[in-house]
Amino acid sequence: MTATLNNLIANDNGLRVLCDTCSRVADMDVPKLIHAYGGAMTLPEIGRRARCKVCGGRGGSVQVVAVRW
Ligand SMILES: [Zn+2]
Repeated sequence: MTATLNNLIANDNGLRVLCDTCSRVADMDVPKLIHAYGGAMTLPEIGRRARCKVCGGRGGSVQVVAVRW
């Protein structure tokens, strides 16, 4: 089963995206992502849609991190 944004909330996890191009690390605002895409959005899909603020590159690797909101 692929993890979704709802799974992150349920487990008190955060989401980090690593840019494939410049390796920038960005911690995502999970509640904001759910507001924008819905809780059923999968994490790999978020990675594919992410756009890097530094290099403008599209696509990144997602990583689940232990963060309490
Ligand atoms: Zn980048």
